[in-house]
Amino acid sequence: MKYTKNSLLSKTALTCVKRFATFAASPMLRRQTMTTTKGAAKKTPLGITWLGHSAFRFDTPGGKVLLIDPWLDNPKAPSNAKQLHKVDAILITHGHNDHIGNCVEIATRTNAMVVAIYEVANYLGKKGVPNVCGINKSGTFVFEGIAITMVDANHSSGIDSDGIPLAGADPAGFVITFENGSRVYHAGDTGVFLDMKLIADLYKPDIVLLPIGGFYTMGPREAAKACELLNPKIIIGMHYGTFPVLGGTPQELKKDLPPRYKKKLRILEPGVRAEF
Ligand SMILES: [Zn+2]
Repeated sequence: MKYTKNSLLSKTALTCVKRFATFAASPMLRRQTMTTTKGAAKKTPLGITWLGHSAFRFDTPGGKVLLIDPWLDNPKAPSNAKQLHKVDAILITHGHNDHIGNCVEIATRTNAMVVAIYEVANYLGKKGVPNVCGINKSGTFVFEGIAITMVDANHSSGIDSDGIPLAGADPAGFVITFENGSRVYHAGDTGVFLDMKLIADLYKPDIVLLPIGGFYTMGPREAAKACELLNPKIIIGMHYGTFPVLGGTPQELKKDLPPRYKKKLRILEPGVRAEF
């Protein structure tokens, strides 16, 4: 397919295509070490730091810094959460304020590439984010050797734009394949849904980050069922404890998990980096 100025692609899509045309045809979904960072990436672990709520920082085996849903003013965020000198990419699961969070200020300051569903990416571009890439579900964007695949989520996604609600398309989750082949599924805000089995069959995520707080998303009982569908090696809870209504806890999740999954649960403390 040839992209020209006269094509129907928006500016958002063209930013993506122009800057990363060389990656477009890359079969990055294969579970293998990426060629650009082969030796080093294999030995370097993946660092995952929970920043409270649904916000995570990944220090990738290839030396990149990637954020998801960077609401760094959340009550559980560590005090140094916003001290970010280098950010390469930011992934946004949906349009709600507690997920877009501090994206615009961080992306503007660091020049990070922001990946979101098409409509949210367009919105962020209009808000001044210099590099945006709008993709859609089942699509993959390969960024600097990291394959970012958008998957379904069962939630809502309106954008609160200075008090005026905007349609923010669908909510989403992401499956991220890092340079060493390790794969993480961040479910975004969602309830449990049967197609999580499809995510497991297609992508086989090693690590799953699942909301467990309840009220706006699934709680421990539903997240335990999600683990059965996803069959991961490591289970990490998120979107809990931020406000009193998000009352689900990892301890409750552990109780609800079938015996073979209980040992896979890792409880992260905000701001403390774990390595995988
Ligand atoms: Zn949320």
